[in-house]
Amino acid sequence: MANIPAAVVTGATTARGIGRAIALRLAENGHPVALLGRNLVTAREYAAEISDKYGIPAVGVSCDVTDPKSVDEAAGEVDERLGPVGVLVNNAGITDPGRFVDIDVASWNAVVDVSVAGTVNMMQRMVPDMMRRKAGRIVNITSVSAQNGGGVFGGAHYAAAKSSVAGLTRAVSRECAHAGVTVNAVAPGLIDTDIRGEVDPALIAEVVSGIPVGRMGTAEEVAATVAFLCGIEAAYITGATIDINGGLYLR
Ligand code: NDP
Repeated sequence: MANIPAAVVTGATTARGIGRAIALRLAENGHPVALLGRNLVTAREYAAEISDKYGIPAVGVSCDVTDPKSVDEAAGEVDERLGPVGVLVNNAGITDPGRFVDIDVASWNAVVDVSVAGTVNMMQRMVPDMMRRKAGRIVNITSVSAQNGGGVFGGAHYAAAKSSVAGLTRAVSRECAHAGVTVNAVAPGLIDTDIRGEVDPALIAEVVSGIPVGRMGTAEEVAATVAFLCGIEAAYITGATIDINGGLYLR
């Protein structure tokens, strides 16, 4: 176990969320894991569950990814409590279904900030250490919305934010590859979590009817692919975006 690096997962504070599922899966694979988010109560609760379940060090750490100071403090705390971080999963994200013409500046900035500034802040804080140690795995969560201009209840700001994450992933991957640090993205389709809040079941059914696999995806299915990209066997995959969408978007 000693050579399995510590992992940081942002946005791992919701009960049915993708981040919590990723943290669980990484711990199952032997990674000590830090669960980050603004909700310290649930971050700590889910970390304790992981420690109990897998006997792996797991910590919940308060972090607002849009705030570089908060990111710096959280990263320092993780280093202190778990040791050097070798895996970073930028999963924190929010969505908003507004029509383009109705999106106000506050909503635009909020959606873009969490996905784009959040991913930038985390990578800028953690990439230099990974490159110095010549090892690292970064996985960023984009969305089918970036590829298809929406389609899973996100508005234009969400599609723009997730497109930025995909471009950022490719750009940073080029700069890090020579130092043994891979940077990839996954693009989930419609995943059964609570990110959308209350949605009319008829609307969900309409989207599902266009998914060749015939159902929503699960957080665990996303987590399995993320965990693979974080592992030793994925050393030759970098700058990639892996679709996890049941065929909703084919290219
Ligand atoms: P959830 O709403 O369940 O989880 C979102 C997480 O992001 C929460 O833990 C929340 O924690 C965290 N978060 C939000 N703002 C911040 C912030 N400023 N700083 C730190 N953490 C923050 O959503 P999902 O699990 O569904 O989504 C996870 C990711 O997957 C998101 O990036 C989403 O865009 C993406 N995705 C989801 C799809 C789906 O269908 N569910 C499809 C495609 C992509 P807290 O409030 O404690 O800060």
